[in-house]
Amino acid sequence: MSQPIVYLDCHATTPVDERVLEAMLPYFREHFGNAASKTHPYGWAAEAAVNLSRETLAIAINAEPEELVFTSGATESNNLAIKGVAESYFSKGRHIITAETEHNAVLDTCKYLESLGFEVTYLPVQADGLVDLSELEKSIRSDTVLVSIMAANNETGVVQPLAKIGALCHERGVLFHTDAAQAIGKIPLDVQAMHIDLMSLTAHKIYGPKGVGALYVRRKNPRVLVAPQLHGGGHERGMRSGTLYTPQIVGFAKAVELALAERETEARRIGQLRDRLWATLLMAGGIHLNGHPTQRLYSNLNISIDGVDGQALAIALRQFVAVSSGSACSSSKTAPSHVLKALGLSDELAYASVRFGIGRFNTEDEIEWVGQQVIETIRALRSVPVAAR
Ligand SMILES: *Cc1c(COP(=O)(O)O)cnc(C)c1O
Repeated sequence: MSQPIVYLDCHATTPVDERVLEAMLPYFREHFGNAASKTHPYGWAAEAAVNLSRETLAIAINAEPEELVFTSGATESNNLAIKGVAESYFSKGRHIITAETEHNAVLDTCKYLESLGFEVTYLPVQADGLVDLSELEKSIRSDTVLVSIMAANNETGVVQPLAKIGALCHERGVLFHTDAAQAIGKIPLDVQAMHIDLMSLTAHKIYGPKGVGALYVRRKNPRVLVAPQLHGGGHERGMRSGTLYTPQIVGFAKAVELALAERETEARRIGQLRDRLWATLLMAGGIHLNGHPTQRLYSNLNISIDGVDGQALAIALRQFVAVSSGSACSSSKTAPSHVLKALGLSDELAYASVRFGIGRFNTEDEIEWVGQQVIETIRALRSVPVAAR
């Protein structure tokens, strides 16, 4: 009898919600037009759907529809935001501030800009994963043009104090970009109240399709300039050329709409599952929670386990649960997570870590079963004599 593999990797991606798929299908079939075709109803139908989707997204983050640029996902949005601002504000300054725990789409973009002569400060974080606001303030210079700090971390779920960071940036006349790929639909986001100038979004972490996202670009107080990184037909007010992918955009908006409508019930239900899993795992003893205990996404549990080998743990877990672990099983050269290292973990504990991402379609029974299996796994691994590990 083959065991089911329970999916608990919702920070990597999520299944598409049936309701999202249903909303998308007409835009593959009868409404296949190009949203830029102005001369016939096929184009008009696509354009109308794109406009409605843009409005839904704008309402979700308290922005104006014209402030949203559709992209292929948060990787592209991060690239567009950071490179686009660096290029546009080149003569004002060449210093960017980010944090050590950012997603690689931010870190590698910053490294690329360093190779072009920009200067980047990579802020360390505190042991709980939060950015130290006084450190941030001290790192702002007269030539700083952009601060890029993520909303919620993809490994630990740690939620940064966005409103405080934004207020500080605006006081000092620096633009604030946030990667909200993990946060949209899960925590309230308000670009006005939080003083956010640019925000990266994606659909596939909230039961939408892969390959679509957006970048919010502030148009007023201040008006933010973003140099395009894709040139062509001048779509998206010149910031991002390319025929709009109507079905994906419609699915993205539907996913956001559902996430907002169900946010509170979902946060409660999934939060309870997460807490239950944590309570179960604690019974194994020698388990550490990575990241802030409360300033984190309700869906996230990231733990390190004493006395087990990271590689053996990863191999054992993949028999029954889909999770991310600190040690990707077979690849010969894995580095420990840069996020967990930034929180001060030893290599050993960073390798012996597991990220659980619980989602909309997980059940109590699954969580209960996985919890028991993980405990048994830990006990079995710990019973192996050290020399044999
Ligand atoms: C998933 C993720 C990304 C990348 O998003 P894509 O849409 O897959 O390109 C970027 N940042 C964070 C924080 C993420 O979780």
